[in-house]
Amino acid sequence: MKGLGFVKLAAIAGMMLSAAMPAPVFAVSKQADNRAETLADYQAFQMKDQVLQQVGLKLARGNAPYCANASLTIGLTLTDMAGYSRPDDVRTALGLKGDFAVATAGGFAQDSLMDAYQIVPDLEITAVDGAKINDWPAKKRLDWRRLKRVHDLVDASLAGNGEVALTLGGGQAVTLYGVPACATRFELKSGGKKALADGARVQFGAEFPGFAYPEDEFAAVVAHELAHNVLEHRKWLNAKGRGRRAIRATEREADRLMPWLLANAGYDPRAAVRFMERWGPKHSKGIFRARTHDGWDERAEFVAAEAEIVQAYLSASGTADWSQHFRRDIAPLGD
Ligand SMILES: [Zn+2]
Repeated sequence: MKGLGFVKLAAIAGMMLSAAMPAPVFAVSKQADNRAETLADYQAFQMKDQVLQQVGLKLARGNAPYCANASLTIGLTLTDMAGYSRPDDVRTALGLKGDFAVATAGGFAQDSLMDAYQIVPDLEITAVDGAKINDWPAKKRLDWRRLKRVHDLVDASLAGNGEVALTLGGGQAVTLYGVPACATRFELKSGGKKALADGARVQFGAEFPGFAYPEDEFAAVVAHELAHNVLEHRKWLNAKGRGRRAIRATEREADRLMPWLLANAGYDPRAAVRFMERWGPKHSKGIFRARTHDGWDERAEFVAAEAEIVQAYLSASGTADWSQHFRRDIAPLGD
């Protein structure tokens, strides 16, 4: 897993462990239908979330110049105690007074600021742009809607003036500045092995096998899902219908865009081929269903051919501008 900043991740993990000792057993839930049974599960979940956010943000940021819907991000996600099944236990374990803390820190946008204020997982946040988010109404448990509202406020604030002010648990205020990224939220769902893209979000189940793969191969599958969003496949399928051929065409495009998205994030475009070869033999009957997707060996061939095209653009110009040079299989809708 080289290149993931694992020294930093290990430091974060160490901090979480020591801050949370002794480890009580409690049930936590990020969303109403999701459950982690122990503190160790929670920490494992948070580590995976951190990896997903870092990889996702690297892709979204690297490809921002080519995304029609780029927007600003600070590369930070929060967590809300109201979303858990036993909020008091989680609050105690994390040492919070209120309900909000940093869940993941992307660690790319402004490392110096992140370091200066130690904006790391579990750090308490009490206000966003002066709005006292603890005062916002929420159900006592298993309510994820308030957290979405807070993330929406962060995005709206960045869209407004490019910055957002956070008030930390100790009362200090810190202003974070947005950087452009393709507009997609990355979400880890506890339980489940699936990956999906719905136009605005890319969501992975925490049991998704790709978390165990080398970083660039995991990035390849994140790129596949991000491709669905940046190519607006959900909108196209809604308009054209979800026939087998239509789905297959969108899947092929998402596969072929993988090496482009990887290249712009600094990854080897051929990692997409390696992902297919590792994934395919075991899982091709899972999320990549047989009737709507080509066989994994065919998919690996398409992707390998595309990776060569990407490599040629990289050698010639140093960029892989898919907004200009990617050959579409479907006719985009236009606006
Ligand atoms: Zn897909």
